[in-house]
Amino acid sequence: MNPPAPMDPPAEVRAWCQAARRPCVLSGAGMSAESGVPTFRDTPRSLWARFDPATLATPEAYERDPALVWAWYQWRTHLVRRAQPNEGHVALARWARSRPELRIVTQNVDDLHERAGSPEVIHLHGSLFAARCVACGRPPSQPLASLGDDGPPPLRLLPPTCAACGGLLRPGVVWFGEALPPGPWQAALDAVTRCDLLVVVGTSGLVHPAASLPAQALARGVPVVEINPQPTPLSPLASRVWRTTAAVGLPQLLPD
Ligand code: NAD
Ligand code: ZN
Repeated sequence: MNPPAPMDPPAEVRAWCQAARRPCVLSGAGMSAESGVPTFRDTPRSLWARFDPATLATPEAYERDPALVWAWYQWRTHLVRRAQPNEGHVALARWARSRPELRIVTQNVDDLHERAGSPEVIHLHGSLFAARCVACGRPPSQPLASLGDDGPPPLRLLPPTCAACGGLLRPGVVWFGEALPPGPWQAALDAVTRCDLLVVVGTSGLVHPAASLPAQALARGVPVVEINPQPTPLSPLASRVWRTTAAVGLPQLLPD
């Protein structure tokens, strides 16, 4: 997708961002799209185009074929390692420096907010960099090997085993059908309860319960701004919508 040409942000939204003391940002896969990390609903670009992510990102898929699921996550990890934070991630990190109470709640499993310099990112759906044992829950005892740059990604890769109990490692992400980690979910609820502005960027608003957070802010009378080049179920409810991308819009919206 070509990013839309830059345009002026809605003046009112810019004023809200300037004035907010406790802003909260809810980000989704579109936040990282301009870093080259594909969203789930993007034009298929890889070997994995033939698979539906929803059929790979489940506990049942892992039980059925752990090598297929592990290979898919290793490929996604590889893409993220090669990617760099975009201007949107950088603008949010800058905003956090002038607004220490800013909270970023992300559905992303990449580490691009952190690599741009944002402290305290709340990861609702876990992380590609937090593998753990399916049996005992321990993290790997040593860093995992990453995929090389040569050749196509493998379609199957047996997960490493746990040094403590011999169980298989699984990706540290939340799969469809799994509960969110209670700590981050509570932190997200706290952030949305305390915020005086919610900026929702790059999420299709289809994955629950994360998608329920904007409604909670709106119910408290807090303005909710959506930044997304496409309409979403949130669009008709949001206080303001700006049809632009994360990397184009956020640097223009947020105070320097
Ligand atoms: P999604 O794939 O369902 O939706 C992406 C949204 O981003 C769409 O509404 C699209 O219009 C918008 N978008 C596309 N390009 C954009 C851009 N440049 N700027 C702003 N918006 C843009 O993603 P989701 O809502 O986050 O939910 C799906 C699940 O996908 C989440 O659970 C998440 O964990 C997972 N996911 C994460 C990553 C990542 O970590 N980078 C990547 C793919 C999927
Ligand atoms: Zn174990």
